[in-house]
Amino acid sequence: MQDNIDRINTAINRLKTADDVALVAVSKRQPPEHIEQALAFGLRIFGENQVQEAKARWADYQTQYNDLELHLLGPLQSNKVSDAVALFDVIHSVDRLKIAEKIASECQKQQKKIQCFIQVNTGLEDQKSGIDVARLNDFYQQCIDLGLHVIGLMCLPPLDEEPAFHFALLRKKAKELGLQNLSMGMSSDYETALRLGATHIRVGSALFGARPSQ
Ligand SMILES: *Cc1c(COP(=O)(O)O)cnc(C)c1O
Repeated sequence: MQDNIDRINTAINRLKTADDVALVAVSKRQPPEHIEQALAFGLRIFGENQVQEAKARWADYQTQYNDLELHLLGPLQSNKVSDAVALFDVIHSVDRLKIAEKIASECQKQQKKIQCFIQVNTGLEDQKSGIDVARLNDFYQQCIDLGLHVIGLMCLPPLDEEPAFHFALLRKKAKELGLQNLSMGMSSDYETALRLGATHIRVGSALFGARPSQ
């Protein structure tokens, strides 16, 4: 794992065009010993894509490590928002009004400030989560009106397309909105994402090794 961490950090230093880049270690479905190892190597920023799995795994560590930062990457259902707001520091998958409203009201109720990324469906894929590019400006304004702390945009390019196009589009949209942060790039394409301005790369298998499929 140390080799993988070194390789990714070297790429960050060599290729980044943003001032600061956070490596979000995507720990979903990884065995507990991989988490222990990553913590021992000093990693503190972790990404998960399911609220229940993340809660079971991280609740105890949160009391042990006060510098832990947990990021929710996967789609959020409204009945999980309360747990998500309690557990996570950052949510990368804000993509529809109902969820934005629920996050805003839970933040108020729990007196917690969550950093949010709006997930953009840059590939116009029907089945994919994310707000359509054409609706992004209106949705962003709605999020601001709700009092959400929107810090940037996130995308997940279609598997069969050149990711650079999607990253460049996301960067353009963030710039138009005056947003500083770009959550883009995974194991297969984080180098491209770094060149195009990523501030948060979300890396799972290239860091921990392949994960069990379910
Ligand atoms: C699983 C996942 C990742 C990490 O994927 P790898 O290919 O293992 O790096 C990144 N982002 C999201 C939204 C994911 O669900």
